[in-house]
Amino acid sequence: MRSPFVAGNWKLNGSRSSVSSLASEIASAPASNVEVVICPVSLHLSEVAQAIAGSSVKLGAQNACAAEAGAYTGEVSSTMLAEYGCEFVIVGHSERRTLFGETDSQCAERHAAVQRAGLTSIFCIGESLQERESDQTFSVVERQLNALIDVSGDQAFENTVVAYEPVWAIGTGKTASPEQAQAVHAHIRQYIAGHNADAADAVQILYGGSVNAGNAADLFANADIDGGLIGGAALKSKDFLAICDAASRSQDS
Ligand code: PEP
Repeated sequence: MRSPFVAGNWKLNGSRSSVSSLASEIASAPASNVEVVICPVSLHLSEVAQAIAGSSVKLGAQNACAAEAGAYTGEVSSTMLAEYGCEFVIVGHSERRTLFGETDSQCAERHAAVQRAGLTSIFCIGESLQERESDQTFSVVERQLNALIDVSGDQAFENTVVAYEPVWAIGTGKTASPEQAQAVHAHIRQYIAGHNADAADAVQILYGGSVNAGNAADLFANADIDGGLIGGAALKSKDFLAICDAASRSQDS
């Protein structure tokens, strides 16, 4: 049985004091039986680590360099993130792919570096609106998963949480319907099973894209939706905790 998982991607938001308060509020009331991870900007990791110390909430980063050290100005390595208490790293978020030009293979190299450092990669995949409208959703997610298999082979889905995030649903208020999301999640699991059946059973597949306190329960009720990667709604503790609660209740149903 896969445990429910909810990760908050705070993106480029907050100040030293506001992230500390937000993290403390989340850490003071985490839902039971849910893995909860919060991902501030790297600069705020220490503040957030202090705020969640002693709670079950875990720390994640929003990206990591494929290299461990060297001439990579502006980058942060997984080994460095681990030193700050990070256990998770978001890799291949659509904003990294579209705004910063990270390719499938570069995302896969970053993913492999996260794994090598002993951290878990929250690996994001998903199609654009144009790709959905031209019926390419399945082929796009297959291509993005294949990049992992090309780089990491049998280890591709070790220490990995997959996040299906249709680009058209991120930050837009347009959520994929539970049926649309479940169909893609089932396809992702089946595709992974073609390479590694055990990994396919074990891997948590999160849905991301305008999840909120009102739609989370319907999404999480589906067999292949193991939780969510949350952007905007992760910036308000009440909303984020309600989503974590929906994930917890999904396990009981
Ligand atoms: C995200 O940034 O990964 C995300 C899913 O954002 P939002 O929940 O705001 O759509």
